[in-house]
Amino acid sequence: MSTATPAAAGTPVSVARSQPADHAAVRRHNLGLVLRLLRSGGPRSRAGIAVATGLNKATVSSLVAELESRGLVRDVGTDRERRLGRPATLVELDGRGVLAIGLEVNVDFLSVLVTDVAGREVHSRTRPIDARHHSLDAIVALLVELSEEGVSIAGPTRRAVTGCTVAVPGVVDVDAGVVRIAPNLGWHDVPFAAVLGAALGAELAVTVDNEANLAALAEHRVGQHAGVANLLYVIGEVGLGGGIVVDGHLVRGASGFGGEIGHMTMERDGLRCNCGSRGCWETLVALPAVLRAAVPDRADELAADENLSPEDKIRIVAERASSGDAVALAALRDVGEWLGVGLANLFHVLNPDIVVLAGIYPVVAEWVVPVATEVLAEQTLGHAGRSCPVVVSSLGFSAAARGGAIHAAERVFDDPLCVPVLSDQKEPS
Ligand SMILES: [Zn+2]
Repeated sequence: MSTATPAAAGTPVSVARSQPADHAAVRRHNLGLVLRLLRSGGPRSRAGIAVATGLNKATVSSLVAELESRGLVRDVGTDRERRLGRPATLVELDGRGVLAIGLEVNVDFLSVLVTDVAGREVHSRTRPIDARHHSLDAIVALLVELSEEGVSIAGPTRRAVTGCTVAVPGVVDVDAGVVRIAPNLGWHDVPFAAVLGAALGAELAVTVDNEANLAALAEHRVGQHAGVANLLYVIGEVGLGGGIVVDGHLVRGASGFGGEIGHMTMERDGLRCNCGSRGCWETLVALPAVLRAAVPDRADELAADENLSPEDKIRIVAERASSGDAVALAALRDVGEWLGVGLANLFHVLNPDIVVLAGIYPVVAEWVVPVATEVLAEQTLGHAGRSCPVVVSSLGFSAAARGGAIHAAERVFDDPLCVPVLSDQKEPS
């Protein structure tokens, strides 16, 4: 059996693994390779799969039969473009009966997004809550309810659930499944994967990750600029979070602090930050700073109002700017400048292909993005930042939960044999 490199099927975001050279591991790797190829490149003939992967035709036929027996691929008619010889049957990614669950715990809401293995959305729902006033047990119970509802809506087509990945606003040790610090939830060292896994049922694989990391994964996979190798995702809400994709892989760092860009020091003697430090980037560009500068007469009242979402609050700023209010316009210019300064610093570290702004920034994009773009170009070596577009996210509130579902589905691409054989089929030898 020949092997091929994963690069033949694109650059999926996942932790790279070394492959032991035994037969089962090689077969598992090649099954995943074929699945990824069909996901990124669409339907292909068996001969086309062989050419693209470098595997021989007999191996490809056997791999396709294996995937078919698990409902992960199916035949879809013939290749009409083919001029010579017999028309070839095309194979496409299927996976309709295998579900992946993405969940998000936010300060203001809980949400669920269920997809099949091909990423088709089966169900999504957001439930407003004030998570700060709910116990851990109460949040877990609500997440179980949301997940069960989502899976039951998929109905009789469901054969398996590949896993569940939950996004939280905090620093996460992904391998340990522990939320190290989630200041806005008041969580410290919470073994969230184990707690939620026990509540959902022991057989379900549960992963916990930072919300901005999962949103960045969603941007990289299904956003408007999907597929770029190096992407920097910046989300402003009550705090400022980041997700970093380098060479197609999420960067989390040694202990999960990679991407905590909101706490880069911009002013040594600046304002006190929620983290206890001073002059962090988020004290200059996140929602509280924008409200203080743009609507000083209502800033305290708006900051304290728990009935309004961050998006409701930033819309008030946008309304003032639209009406020509000089204070709001000057404040948004400052926010654009500080965003540009931080992005220029990060450009010299990461050299991203693109910066995607999310959270409050899409609402005030017309004032903030041109200024940030200008400063990014000015403050970079040789004005290299000009080559890096600053754009706003189009995925909205569901980005982190969608990233969770993408992450959970990835388990099938890493190991297609985790999906059971269809009951009316024999396991291929
Ligand atoms: Zn800070």
